[in-house]
Formats: sequence, C-alpha cells, structure tokens
Amino acid sequence: MESSLENKIKKMFSEYQNDVIFDNLPLFFTLAYELKENLKNYSFTYDVMKIPETDIHEVMNNVFAYYESIGIKCPFEDLLLSSHLKLRGLPYKNDCQYIENNLSRGMIYYNNGEYYVVLYLLGLMSDAFNIVHELSHYNNVPIGIRNQYSHLFTEAIASAEEFLFADFIEQRGMKEIASLWYQYRLDNFFKTANIALAIFNVLTSWGYIDDIGISPNYEISSDDFKICQKYFLKNNYDFHHICWYLMAYSLSPFLFFELERVDSKGALLKEWYNKINYNDISSIFSSMGLNDLGDEDRVKLKKSLIALIKSRKI
Ligand SMILES: [Zn+2]
Repeated sequence: MESSLENKIKKMFSEYQNDVIFDNLPLFFTLAYELKENLKNYSFTYDVMKIPETDIHEVMNNVFAYYESIGIKCPFEDLLLSSHLKLRGLPYKNDCQYIENNLSRGMIYYNNGEYYVVLYLLGLMSDAFNIVHELSHYNNVPIGIRNQYSHLFTEAIASAEEFLFADFIEQRGMKEIASLWYQYRLDNFFKTANIALAIFNVLTSWGYIDDIGISPNYEISSDDFKICQKYFLKNNYDFHHICWYLMAYSLSPFLFFELERVDSKGALLKEWYNKINYNDISSIFSSMGLNDLGDEDRVKLKKSLIALIKSRKI
C-alpha cells in the first residue's frame, strides 16, 4: 500500500504545469547540496536569551533610520494608518525555544484586492529584523502583478535586507544583536539545506528528479524519510516554500554584498522590487549581477557566503 507521503508527492507531480521550480529540480537540488557543503565546516552559535528587551518605539527608531539611510520611504506608517498592518504582541516567556520559534513570525496576505502585513512581536530588539523582512516583501508586492518569479525572489531580497539592516545597526553600535542575527540566519541556512536535501534524496530515489551525481546511492535513510514526512504531512507545507528559501539563502549573501558595493542602495533595491514582478528571469538575474545560476554564478555565491561568515564572526 502506498504511503500517504507517496500519494501526496505523486499528486504534486501530476498537477504541476509550467512551474519554474518543478521544471528546474536538479538546480534546486544542487543549490541545497552546495549550501550544505559550504556551511558544514562552520558552527554557528547564538543565544536568543541575550537579545535585549525593548519596546516598539525603540525598534521603530532603528527601522525608520535604516530606511532613511537607504533612501526608501518606510511603508510602516501608511500601513498602520490604513489598518493594513496588524501588530500582534506575543507574551514574554523565559524560554529560548519559544523565542527562537517566534523570532521571524510574520506574513503578508492578500484580501479583496489589498495587501495586509501581519507581524508578531516579542518585545525584543529582534522585532526590528522581522519588520524589515516583512516590509521588504510589502515593498515589492503592491505592484500587484505577482508571478512565480516574484515568489521565488522576494525571499532572497528580504533575506539580503536583513543582512543590510544588521550591518546598519552594527554601525550604530549594536554589535551583539547584529552578530547574533548573522549566526542565527546562517544556522537557518544550514538547517534549511539539510531539510531540502532529505526531501531531494527521497524524490530522487523515487525517480522524480534526475540523478545529479552527487550521492552515488540513493538509498533513502530513515532520517531522510522522516524529515520528508514531517515537512509534507505534519506541517502540510507546500513544496515551493522550501525552494523559495533555498533560493533566498543561496542568493542573499551575494545580494547583500551587491548592496554594500553601491552608494544608492535604495535605487538598487527598487530595481529588484520592480524586476521580480515581470516574467523575465534573465532580466532579474542581470539586475542582480548574475547570469543563470550556472557554475560561474555559483562560485560567486559561494565566495560571498564564505566572506559573510568570515567577516561576521562573533
Ligand atoms: Zn519572507
């Protein structure tokens, strides 16, 4: 009897059409593999209990100052005044797992032709990163012509903006929280790559992805199978999500350095905000200083990732 996981995956593959992720699975497999390989020799340590407590005024002071520094109008007040921003204060709990689980909780949703932003706030300085991340999404969604490339690249831009914000507050003297955020995110990168690899191993061994020649035996380990099951069944996640994050985590260190390089960070961000909403992948890549994520591009991505790790050690 087929497991419900097999049924779910079979259904997923029978239903997709013209999908940039499903049509390029070996590329996403390669991104996951390289992300893991590039990160596996480093350890990332951080203590979320050390994130300073603060209030929304202090958080917003930093967020507004960040937007001013990059020359983009912060959409926070307009969203708040139009009731399109829902702020949810979470109760404080002296529990590191609870804090970590809620560090990056937020979302954007679409209702009746309008976009809304929901943010869960812990009353910690980390809320600022969460706000910058969701507002980054908001800054490219009101264009209203979303397509599969918008979804594929919006996480990469938001992730790069988190690094840019970390750099900004580091320069304002908040070195510890900035370092902690780099470590927390790089650790996320590694965990995401591992989950994705487990899924790709299962999909390859079941014949859904062509062998890309990186693991000679596609014997699914019971761990791979369990991870895959947890991802699809327990959490009921859409397969696209993990691929959006793989793209985000592969690209964002590189995009961060591209932003660091230019004087007008806002202009470059606005170009990306705009480009990802048009159905033209080569113009998206070229605005980002990339080509097609082939071998040459992936060497650049690796160099940026390693440079980020080495320059941002605690
Ligand atoms: Zn996001």
